Formats: sequence, C-alpha cells, structure tokens
Amino acid sequence: MIAIIGGGICGLGIGWRLAQAGEDVTVYDRGVAGMEATWAAAGMLAPQAEAEHGEEALLPLALESRAMWKEFAAELLAVTGIDVDYREEGTMVVGLDRDDVEHLEHRFSYFQSLGLDVQWLSGYEARKREPHLARAVGGAVYSALDHQVDNRKVAEALRSAFVDAGGTLKENVEIIGVATAAGRVSAIETADGSIETDTVVLAAGAWSRKLGGLPETSRPPVRPLKGQMVAVQMEPQYPLIESVIWGPGNGVVPSIYLAPKSNGRLIIGATVEEMGFDIDLTAGGVMELLKLAWDMLPGIYDLPLVESWAGLRPASRDDAPILGPTPTPGLILATGHHRNGILLAPLTAKAISDFVRQGEVGSSIKPFLLDRFEKAVTANV
Ligand SMILES: Cc1cc2nc3c(=O)[nH]c(=O)nc-3n(C[C@H](O)[C@H](O)[C@H](O)COP(=O)(O)OP(=O)(O)OC[C@H]3O[C@@H](n4cnc5c(N)ncnc54)[C@H](O)[C@@H]3O)c2cc1C
Repeated sequence: MIAIIGGGICGLGIGWRLAQAGEDVTVYDRGVAGMEATWAAAGMLAPQAEAEHGEEALLPLALESRAMWKEFAAELLAVTGIDVDYREEGTMVVGLDRDDVEHLEHRFSYFQSLGLDVQWLSGYEARKREPHLARAVGGAVYSALDHQVDNRKVAEALRSAFVDAGGTLKENVEIIGVATAAGRVSAIETADGSIETDTVVLAAGAWSRKLGGLPETSRPPVRPLKGQMVAVQMEPQYPLIESVIWGPGNGVVPSIYLAPKSNGRLIIGATVEEMGFDIDLTAGGVMELLKLAWDMLPGIYDLPLVESWAGLRPASRDDAPILGPTPTPGLILATGHHRNGILLAPLTAKAISDFVRQGEVGSSIKPFLLDRFEKAVTANV
C-alpha cells in the first residue's frame, strides 16, 4: 500500500494518478480533505504575471504545469461531472499612479527579458478591456496566457475522481509519525497504532515539517505563511471584471489581486504574514485588502461582503516546491508549493506518481529535490 499523508490538492492529485494506474493507494487527512490551503487559495494560474526576480528556476516548471491545466480540468469534468471553472480571460497587472506605472514598466521589461508573452496597455486600453477599473489606472501589463480555476471545485472534483478510480480516502486520521526499519520507511503511526507501508508520500502542506519520526536529513524545511482573504458577491450576469487583476500593495498586502469566479464571487487577496500557524483574521488585514481593492475597482463599494478567511501557504526556504525522493528510501516529498500549489498541481501529480511507479526523477523536478538546500549550505561554506 502506498500511503499519502495529506489530502490537499497535492496529495489528492498524486493519489488520483496512482489509483488510475491501478496502484493500492490511501490518502490520509487529519481533517476533511481539501479544506486547508487548497480551499483558502484564489485559484490563479499566473506564472507570467507573478514572475519575480530570484525565482527564475521556478518559471519553466510553472509554465509546464500551466500548459497542463486545460486538459487536467477537462479530464476532471469528464470523470466526475464537476466543472472546475477553468477560465481563460487572462490576467492584468495595473499601475495606479506615476510611481506604480514606472515600476510596472520595469517589471514589463523584466517579463520581456524572460521571453514571456505579455503586452503593454495604456490606461485607456486597460479600461477598454475592463471598463470598471479606476480612472487612476495609468498603465497595465496584460498576460493573455495566465488563467484561473475555482480551487474549491478542483478539490471536490479530485476527491471524487480519486475515490472513483479506486483510491481509499481516510479522513479525520492524523498521521503522527513515520517509522523506519534498517534506514527505510516501514510504517506510518496513528493514535490507534501503526500501519505497515514501504512507500510514503509526504504532502501535508504547511505541516509537513512537523511529522514525527522523520530523520533530520529528510525533514523538509517548510513553514506556514499566512494569507488573509475576503470575497464580495457580484451579479454573475453583470460581473465588474472578467479577468484576474493585480494591483499595487501596501505593507502586509505586498500586491493586491482580484479573482472573479463564474458564480459571481470576487476573491480579494491576500496578506502575506509570518505568523506561525495562526489563522485569525485581523481588522488591519481586512481593511488593507478592501482599501487596496477599492482603489483599483471602486465598484466593489456597494457589493455584499460574503466571506473572509485565512489560510497557510506551505513555504520553503527558496519559495519553490520540494519534490521527489529523500535520503530515507521510501519517503517521497510533495510539499513547499508556497503560493503556487494550485498552478503546480497537474505537474506535481504526474511527476510524483511517475516517480513512485518507475523510481526515476523526471527532468522537470530535478532542480526541486530536497538535496538542493544541502548543496546551498555547502556552497556557502
Ligand atoms: C491565501 C492563499 C492564496 C493562494 N492563492 C493561490 C493561487 O491563486 N494560486 C496557486 O497556485 N496557489 C495559491 N495558493 C497556494 C496553494 O493554496 C498551496 O500551495 C496549495 O494548496 C498547497 O497544497 P497542499 O496539498 O500541499 O497543502 P494543503 O492544501 O494545505 O493540504 C495539506 C493537507 O494535509 C493535511 N495534514 C497535515 N498534517 C497532517 C497529518 N499529520 N496527518 C494527516 N493529514 C495531515 C491537512 O489537513 C491538509 O488537508 C494560495 C494559498 C493561500 C493560503
């Protein structure tokens, strides 16, 4: 039996691919599958608009996974009947004052230097595309290839696809630790005793580092990074915006974004906070989100506020995922996806299930093995 610890988008996606291939696979979640970061996310699939200095190694992986999304969504619809609201209107990043616009021009040249397919729009052109944008918008970058999904529907679809393909889902079962014998994985431990297994995929999101029994050399350096979000409700037939829109941030919200879903929910995110496992909403966080969103899209003022929540991104030391084998035979990692776990889900599912079945590390995930952190330390000595 293959044991997957964590039933978020990573664990369920890998489990689905393994079950489809006829493997005996069980996903364990200490709560209800899909209800942590996977539920809290905004569902953006935007490697171009989110490309940042220092994350160049991540870009090819992110672009590869983005290219897999259309088929992934179609396959989920075909096997479960659940439409995950894959939308292809693209993503826009706007500048609101002269400072912003100049900064955005620099980002635009950076995007171009990476060979990304992006377009510069004047304020007028940006408003032609999205007429409800504030008059202050003075310029924008449009990325036609950056899309989005409804991540909550993805979780629901993956859960059902996994079980229909023959996978076993055990919810409300916390895995306390991993046991080893002669240096390799031999079992997982629960409060009710141990379960024998020689293959464990650790996909426990922000909690991955906390699992008991892990040899130090195999413990992924993952920490929680809090994100607060709010949602307002638009008229689904008359949405204020059609595409995802990013704008300038402020303090605890480094950049504001708006992600409109087909059911009229408009997600506004997100704070980025080093607060451990705290997921309390704060007045300051919610105020910043609403104020920044209102600056960019004044029409939200009269919309009903329908939800507010916070989630924990599983962040690694270099903000890239940690994928593949560890020095402990039988222990495989699929964690540390930070702010890109929805985007990277199709690729993670394929690459990790291939590794479990064939034992070979695919070329896409080679730069994202756990041993890169050890190499970085050695290089700095
Ligand atoms: C506010 C916010 C906005 C985001 N927006 C986006 C976005 O627009 N696009 C994007 O690509 N990504 C986004 N992300 C990131 C994305 O949500 C995560 O990278 C992704 O969901 C991680 O998936 P996961 O399966 O690794 O973790 P999770 O979804 O957190 O799942 C981990 C699971 O493991 C379980 N678990 C933990 N410990 C144990 C244990 N000991 N035993 C059993 N089960 C255990 C938990 O209960 C949980 O269900 C966002 C994240 C946040 C917080």
